[in-house]
Amino acid sequence: FDAIIREEWEKEKKDLAQYKNVWVFAEQRQGKIMPVAIELLGEGRKLADAIGVSLCAVLLGNHVEGLALDLIQYGADKVYLGQHPLLEKYTTDGYTKVLSDLIHKEKPEIVLMGATHIGRDLAPRVAARVDTGLTADCTKLEIDPEDKKLLQTRPAFGGNIMATIICPNHRPQMATVRPGVMDKAKKAEGRKGEIITFSVALEKSDIRTEVVEIVKAHKTKVALEEAEVIVAGGRGLGKAEGFVLLEKLADKLGGVVGASRATVDAGWIDHAHQVGQTGKTVKPKIYIACGISGAIQHIAGMQNSDIIIAINKNAGAPIFQVADYGIVGDLYEVVPALMDALDRV
Ligand code: FAD
Repeated sequence: FDAIIREEWEKEKKDLAQYKNVWVFAEQRQGKIMPVAIELLGEGRKLADAIGVSLCAVLLGNHVEGLALDLIQYGADKVYLGQHPLLEKYTTDGYTKVLSDLIHKEKPEIVLMGATHIGRDLAPRVAARVDTGLTADCTKLEIDPEDKKLLQTRPAFGGNIMATIICPNHRPQMATVRPGVMDKAKKAEGRKGEIITFSVALEKSDIRTEVVEIVKAHKTKVALEEAEVIVAGGRGLGKAEGFVLLEKLADKLGGVVGASRATVDAGWIDHAHQVGQTGKTVKPKIYIACGISGAIQHIAGMQNSDIIIAINKNAGAPIFQVADYGIVGDLYEVVPALMDALDRV
């Protein structure tokens, strides 16, 4: 019996050894690479170097060949380019089929996708098709120095614990990663790589849905993950109308408005604005926290901002521990004074 188990185990090990390289699904929408794909290339590079394999990007769409070179300049050694009129608009069936067929054929060791609406839809279906596991919504990825497995960390139980997950017996190791958490890869203009165009076997009958039209949501000004400036408000605002003031400051700085959970729970602002463990993870150049105490769950979502400015009337508020600049005072005095000063420059 032991011998049978050992034989199975040896076979499994041999099977797993066929899987090579780190793949990043380079999500594009209407011919534009999503910022998270550039972040994943930055992270993928570190993982590929730690294992000693190549970093590959998978680019699907129609007439998107112009983006392949960009992916190489952002660090991909190879780009798998699959184009077809039926891939022009994202469909679950079409993208799942093409990506899982490619994984079956090429056998990557690791596959990473952004935890965007598309990534969250696509990754579990692909994982099921290729018979592997998936860690969704990761905030940290590392290679175990001993056995070279991918350690995938994500918040669990509403952010109360951080769980590190491994995929011991199946390949590829698949993860989706929260946008805005990882550092973007740097572009190197003259970088060379290989573009592998593969033929896409896709029939209309493979796709059960038809995308008739893509209607852009009404501009909500909450592209928090991409914003360079965020002016965030907390319970210290005292009322929903306080956000009108913050919006004025955000407008002056070309930024957007963020919020703590307390204000979202109070119904002062939509959840789309929430920053933190159960909201968005952001990394702007400037984060201005107004009337936010700095609870650990809020800090988890904004601590990687380049410059943090805190305005709080309590000098002992924990937010000052992560702030680069702190202003102790009433936000209803400080924010208008800041706007006046900005008008003068
Ligand atoms: P408070 O903690 O009440 O702070 C208000 C601050 O405003 C105080 O520091 C006060 O001194 C200051 N203030 C008052 N008046 C003024 C004024 N006029 N001018 C200047 N300063 C003033 N929170 C999040 O934000 N994001 C999350 O994603 C999140 N996820 C969570 C997940 C879990 C599982 C749990 C348990 C909690 C989570 N929370 C989250 C909630 C978090 O613990 C805090 O309760 C919340 O962040 C507090 O929000 P706040 O800082 O706006 O309010």
